[in-house]
Amino acid sequence: MPPLKWQNILYRKLAVLACTMFFVTALSQATQAKIIAPPPPFAAWLAELQQEALSSGIKANIVRDALKDIKPIKRVLELDRRQPEFSLTFWRYLSNTINDKRIKRGRQLLVEHGPLLKKVAQKYGVQPRFLVAFWGLETNFGQYFGKIPVVGSLVTLAHDRRRAKFFRAQLLAALGLMSDGDVSIDVGGSWAGAMGNFQFIPTTYRDFAVDGDGDGKRDLWGNMNDAFSSASNYLSKSGWNGNRTWGREVRLPKGFDLNLIGLEKSRKPLKQWQALGVRRADGRDLPAVAIEGALLLPAGHTGPAFMVYANFDAIMTWNRSVFYAIAIGHLADRLNGQGGLLTPPPAKEIPLSRENVIEIQNTLIQRGFETGGVDGMIGPMTRASIRAWQASVGLPADGHPSMDLLISLRNKPNN
Ligand code: CA
Repeated sequence: MPPLKWQNILYRKLAVLACTMFFVTALSQATQAKIIAPPPPFAAWLAELQQEALSSGIKANIVRDALKDIKPIKRVLELDRRQPEFSLTFWRYLSNTINDKRIKRGRQLLVEHGPLLKKVAQKYGVQPRFLVAFWGLETNFGQYFGKIPVVGSLVTLAHDRRRAKFFRAQLLAALGLMSDGDVSIDVGGSWAGAMGNFQFIPTTYRDFAVDGDGDGKRDLWGNMNDAFSSASNYLSKSGWNGNRTWGREVRLPKGFDLNLIGLEKSRKPLKQWQALGVRRADGRDLPAVAIEGALLLPAGHTGPAFMVYANFDAIMTWNRSVFYAIAIGHLADRLNGQGGLLTPPPAKEIPLSRENVIEIQNTLIQRGFETGGVDGMIGPMTRASIRAWQASVGLPADGHPSMDLLISLRNKPNN
């Protein structure tokens, strides 16, 4: 019947329109959250910055030469604004950062730099396998230092308004390093100004780099004694304990209370975790040592579980990413001769797109759970609201965003 067909088409069109409006609303909310004030006129801003650099004691010739003909770099702003279309899953991150080639190379370098690493470990108390793991993740063992002019990128980001204060401090620190003779004015680095074998940002360089070989200069590129000593000093000052490891893969008992998961949650002595049924991944007892640990499920309750110790916090001081910190620990274990994780990766894993995450956030808000805005990015508030919603409908409350979660959200009404 033609009228019905026509009605069908109309309904479909209306449905599509409603969907489009939904996404337009969601996206405009996401964009609104990120409106950034226009930067001040560049010449006046630069003159004022030069004054501040001079009055903070940076040599006049460095201020003059480093900032000569300087202009914001458009590419740096593009890199700063880029938003990945898909969120990275734990397994994808792990396979991106740890592979057989990297493990093999890392083991070779552990031997090659063995005597130096041992000397540095005796002084700073950071085990060589961890140093080499950081080296591998930061620059693929010194293969990629970054080629973007550090002064140019930091001027760009300090002049821009998104994180002006942070990058102005980085720029002044970088000029200070140049003034002190540690770093040349034309040095290259990452788009955000990270430098050398361990990708130190300028304030970390200023505060934690050390002159390992005693030649009067802190060279984090060409001098491995300086580079290893500096990375060890930074970790040591961040609370590293050289008699301990980072954590380990563990196994949780059936029906384990997922409220106990999370770095921010209660840390407990290993003895208590043992009593709650937590075991090493191979089923053996947890180590009988008087230390505390926290539990993490980076891929949700169907993925691997990790018990992490105090050194994990030191890794998180270096880089505030749980994936990064687990990858450092796991790579260090692999360099030490240990095998891969005992929990197998899923046969098929569907990464969430930004639109998927926006839909998750909008749906949670509609259901009365506060996500801290709709920005298409998974933050602590979104995780907490996922956890609360999961608990409210009787699902395992791991706070983990996934395609399964999105499907449940679409299908499962609130209790
Ligand atoms: Ca030196």
